[in-house]
Amino acid sequence: MRRDYRSPEAQTYRAWYKTARWRVRRAAQLTNEPLCRMCLKAGRVTAATVADHVIPHKGDERLFWTGELQSLCKPHHDGAKQAEERRGYIIGCDASGRPLDPRHPWNR
Ligand SMILES: [Zn+2]
Repeated sequence: MRRDYRSPEAQTYRAWYKTARWRVRRAAQLTNEPLCRMCLKAGRVTAATVADHVIPHKGDERLFWTGELQSLCKPHHDGAKQAEERRGYIIGCDASGRPLDPRHPWNR
């Protein structure tokens, strides 16, 4: 997990991931959907370990707590990040793996 990027917004929602409320939500997601969604699409069965926001919450508290989640394995979650880095965006992700660079298409 990268910890080198410090924006006030990122610090605010990084704290949400440390709450019991998020841990319950994450555990519920991984219970409801225990397999990596991207692996399933590729015809593989892999245990998911990451509850990822389908729509990047970008610090939006409502989206963070009520937005749809998807289960991903760590390689898929991290692989998406590495692809962004190869495209030349600022390296830096929040705790959910979302890019922090406002120029990234996910942040538009
Ligand atoms: Zn996967």
